[in-house]
Amino acid sequence: MDPKPPPSSAEEPVPDKPLDSDCCGQGCQPCVFDIYEQNLRIWQTRQIQGGNSELATRMSSDNFTSCSLVSIDALTDSTFLYTFSLPPGQYLRSNPGQHLILNALSHDKHSVSRQYSIYHVKDDCTAFSVIIKLYSEGVVSRIISQWSFGIQCRWRGPMGDFVHTPLKFSKLFLLGMGTGIVPLLSVIRSILNDEMDETFLHLVCGFRQMTDVFPLDELKVFSAFWNFKLTLCLSRDKTAPSFRPGQIICDQRIDLDLIKSPKLNLPDDLV
Ligand SMILES: Cc1cc2nc3c(=O)[nH]c(=O)nc-3n(C[C@H](O)[C@H](O)[C@H](O)COP(=O)(O)OP(=O)(O)OC[C@H]3O[C@@H](n4cnc5c(N)ncnc54)[C@H](O)[C@@H]3O)c2cc1C
Repeated sequence: MDPKPPPSSAEEPVPDKPLDSDCCGQGCQPCVFDIYEQNLRIWQTRQIQGGNSELATRMSSDNFTSCSLVSIDALTDSTFLYTFSLPPGQYLRSNPGQHLILNALSHDKHSVSRQYSIYHVKDDCTAFSVIIKLYSEGVVSRIISQWSFGIQCRWRGPMGDFVHTPLKFSKLFLLGMGTGIVPLLSVIRSILNDEMDETFLHLVCGFRQMTDVFPLDELKVFSAFWNFKLTLCLSRDKTAPSFRPGQIICDQRIDLDLIKSPKLNLPDDLV
């Protein structure tokens, strides 16, 4: 006899939450609650992939959602990649270039909010990453510098209405400094990952020195595409090795003279 086909995503029942008494309290790895969380995420992913996302809740731009910090990766001395998972049953869908709003309580117990561009959303839409530069005197930076794994943070979004239409323009010139490149990265990634989109991209970004540049690995991946050109302007480095010839301009701030100079080779109608 043929095995029973798996239920369609619409029919698949929500996994049952274990009772407190189902946990033996011996610290098992995984615990029944870990298995439940995992099954719930699989169920949620199937709902979204099966087009039944109304059964899962989309992250709201009006109300804050408590998300759990699952990893912190240092990109430079002061810039970090923070990855959050959404609560079970919730998902985030965003367009390239959009941002989220973080709300937190400051040390003197005031509610403070700051915007952060979405760097990446996991394929199953249940987790997202942001890249944040911490300022020693920044109100929210000081809160973030105390974050540890598992902390719950309040986020809402996505916000921002930038829309890229493939091949509306044959060339896109993108200009950003420091963390200002984060929204550009998701736009670039979406264009390069779309085989039908042959828009030529030129990213010009400014950092103080080579050790401040991030995310180096992804910029190298982008640089391997025929339709991507990178120009890094380092204002405080005298020399630095390029990963492709002509990519780095040292001892140079981004200013109008540079934009107009043949070094960038921008179209006349743009400059
Ligand atoms: C749409 C959008 C997207 C953004 N995306 C990102 C992102 O992806 N990553 C990112 O890191 N940031 C991003 N930002 C910036 C971010 O929202 C915050 O502004 C940043 O994190 C600083 O917040 P803070 O509370 O730590 O610093 P704040 O307290 O707001 O201070 C900012 C700076 O001013 C200085 N400062 C504060 N008070 C004074 C004072 N009285 N006198 C002199 N200097 C002072 C601080 O030292 C610090 O350097 C984005 C902003 C917008 C609007």
